[in-house]
Amino acid sequence: MGIKPPDTTNDLGQCSSCFCRFKASTQKAQSPRSRGVGQQVYESPDAKVCESCFLQSAPKCGACGKPVIGTVARVGETAFHPDCLVCSGCGQKLTGAFAKTDSGFKCANCRP
Ligand SMILES: [Zn+2]
Ligand SMILES: [Zn+2]
Ligand SMILES: [Zn+2]
Repeated sequence: MGIKPPDTTNDLGQCSSCFCRFKASTQKAQSPRSRGVGQQVYESPDAKVCESCFLQSAPKCGACGKPVIGTVARVGETAFHPDCLVCSGCGQKLTGAFAKTDSGFKCANCRP
């Protein structure tokens, strides 16, 4: 028996928000690839935060309500996943001009 010294090889510090310890390989923010390999760590210029804290601070999609990571499509103050920003009339992605209506966003073709 005996107390093992903490394993520092994988010690990446702790979340600056919730102070949980990081255990997995560091992941840069804005690149949510390689999912499923332990806990992800997101670095911002002045802080390292764990995934849950990062997701909490991420903007929420105005369509599906989930955190928007990576590419953010902004409409005014509201963030959207690019995939969530679709025309409520024809379902096409809104990449060009579109209008906000009472029933959602409408592309130029579906606009009244
Ligand atoms: Zn945290
Ligand atoms: Zn969304
Ligand atoms: Zn449309």
